[in-house]
Amino acid sequence: MLPFTIEKVTSVEAAIAAASSGRRLIAGGTTLIDLMRDEVEQPEHLVDINALPLSEIRVDRSDLVIGALARMADVAAHPDVQRLQPLIAESLIEGASPQLRNMASIGGNLLQRVRCPYFRMLDAACNKRTPGSGCAAVDGLNVGHAILGTSDHCVATHPSDVAVALVALDATMRVKGPEGERSFPVAELFRLPGDTPHLEHTLLPGELILEVRIPGGPNSRRARYLKVRDRASYEFALVSAAAALDVADGVIREARLAVGGVGTRPWRMRAVEAALTGKAPDRHVVQAAARLAVEGARPLSGNHYKLELLPRTIVRAFEMTGGIA
Ligand SMILES: Cc1cc2nc3c(=O)[nH]c(=O)nc-3n(C[C@H](O)[C@H](O)[C@H](O)COP(=O)(O)OP(=O)(O)OC[C@H]3O[C@@H](n4cnc5c(N)ncnc54)[C@H](O)[C@@H]3O)c2cc1C
Ligand code: SF4
Repeated sequence: MLPFTIEKVTSVEAAIAAASSGRRLIAGGTTLIDLMRDEVEQPEHLVDINALPLSEIRVDRSDLVIGALARMADVAAHPDVQRLQPLIAESLIEGASPQLRNMASIGGNLLQRVRCPYFRMLDAACNKRTPGSGCAAVDGLNVGHAILGTSDHCVATHPSDVAVALVALDATMRVKGPEGERSFPVAELFRLPGDTPHLEHTLLPGELILEVRIPGGPNSRRARYLKVRDRASYEFALVSAAAALDVADGVIREARLAVGGVGTRPWRMRAVEAALTGKAPDRHVVQAAARLAVEGARPLSGNHYKLELLPRTIVRAFEMTGGIA
């Protein structure tokens, strides 16, 4: 690890000023310190934001609001989260380990970096780490990589579990920077790799995530997160699905679906949702709709299995909601 300085800030304004001058914010440090140890990230100056008043979890009318510094474990265990948005709690519990969840913040989770092995190997070609160097994964070890939203320049999946749930639930986020505050859908935080995979998110220079807001609604109650992985815990998703159903009078009024482990960003499945809406909540209907999930997918040499695993995971996730006959 290279030498660095660290300072604490106690106000949002001080954090924004520091971030605007090129200093790196640090919350739980479970992504950043890891990468600094491997010298993949080499910031010279860190700004510790843990003293900022951004840890609150609260209910605002029917919305659930989660501060950016709330810890994954605290969010997952919070009674209002479990009552109003069990999908969020479930997606958090499925991630990382108890020790990591105690340290890791929601804001940091959304900005965590990819788990592609070549990203962490300093001698491997990786456009995300070293723009213009190539992508070792395209013709290399790509069993865990993406089949949706890839480019010739990068095929890494977005690793966050809770981001998939937030995208399914139409969550928004509030950020603040030198130009003031703004809010936008969490889904718009993540960029596709295109030919600039080193640019991963849409935050402007100096912007700080303040909170995420999850609107309440009938979808929240029948919502489940299913994560398929190589081992039962402490592993990233091969495929995951956040599925929500609103069923009334024998008809699916609304379906929500986002998937992880397959896209270069958390992937909302609008075509599957549309194919379910207005139909009977029947297993065969869901199976047919789930096939639409892989339309346009671009499998790599090592991950054709995701073409089959993804639809199966979607069907199982909808079954888990209890809304499918
Ligand atoms: C072994 C291991 C296994 C893991 N498994 C999973 C898993 O299965 N599922 C999963 O979802 N995650 C997993 N993770 C990732 C983990 O959830 C993230 O590392 C964690 O959530 C990051 O939060 P943090 O507070 O530690 O972020 P930090 O490391 O402190 O920061 C990460 C990035 O976010 C920026 N940042 C932090 N807070 C803010 C803010 N408020 N505003 C603007 N920028 C900010 C930092 O500058 C930095 O660039 C795993 C991590 C490890 C090490
Ligand atoms: S997939 Fe992306 S992160 Fe992995 S080597 Fe290629 S450019 Fe780097």
